[in-house]
Amino acid sequence: MSDKLIKIAYLYEDLMNTYGDSGDVKILSFLLKREGYDTQVDNISLGDDFNAFDYDFVFFGGGQDFEQTVVAKDLPRHKDTLKEYINGDNPMLCICGGYQLMGNYYKTNSGITIPGLGILPLHTVFKSDKRMIGDTRYMTEWGEVKAFENHSGQTYFDDKDKLHSLGDMIEGYGNNPQDHVEGLHYRNFIGSYSHGPLLKNTNVANAIVKLIIKRHNDRVNASEKVAE
Ligand code: GLN
Repeated sequence: MSDKLIKIAYLYEDLMNTYGDSGDVKILSFLLKREGYDTQVDNISLGDDFNAFDYDFVFFGGGQDFEQTVVAKDLPRHKDTLKEYINGDNPMLCICGGYQLMGNYYKTNSGITIPGLGILPLHTVFKSDKRMIGDTRYMTEWGEVKAFENHSGQTYFDDKDKLHSLGDMIEGYGNNPQDHVEGLHYRNFIGSYSHGPLLKNTNVANAIVKLIIKRHNDRVNASEKVAE
């Protein structure tokens, strides 16, 4: 494999990109180019084969409830590869609707329960009386993040010992109105409600770039060993 080509899987880019989250992938590609890498971004959509271990990074953006119902029907085919990839400490970023679908379920406005992949012990419930929309600010391990949120789903961790949030709210709602925390940081998986896109916050983007390059080097070394 090419030692200067970073491969990014963009899950359901054609269906889950109503909030401009493709900006996250563009920012990562820009930053990786500055480090001397080219990027190849593959849209993994309905019916496509997908092996997470062929990639250096996996991205899953936000979307509307209807698109989430469509995607949720196709997604279970990829549960095993994604679970193994995440639990193997590999980097992945999920925004809003994508974040919700990695959990146990998302109970929507119309009373439908969209099953999630159940890889992460969390669930989301739609509350029509409170759309969480507006600017957000929160403190992460990499410093302050400024973004924008737009969701009615309220996310709750089912296993609070296992899951830790991405940050503590300064402004806005984040996961839900009660917990005052934003997103999830589990191993090298980040889930977040932040649009804007999130990675205009270069403190977070640079941390992800480091993880991607490490993963890439590990893959290159492993493929060289096989070739020896
Ligand atoms: N449809 C979901 C919600 O309203 C996700 C929205 C999003 O991805 N921005 O909670």
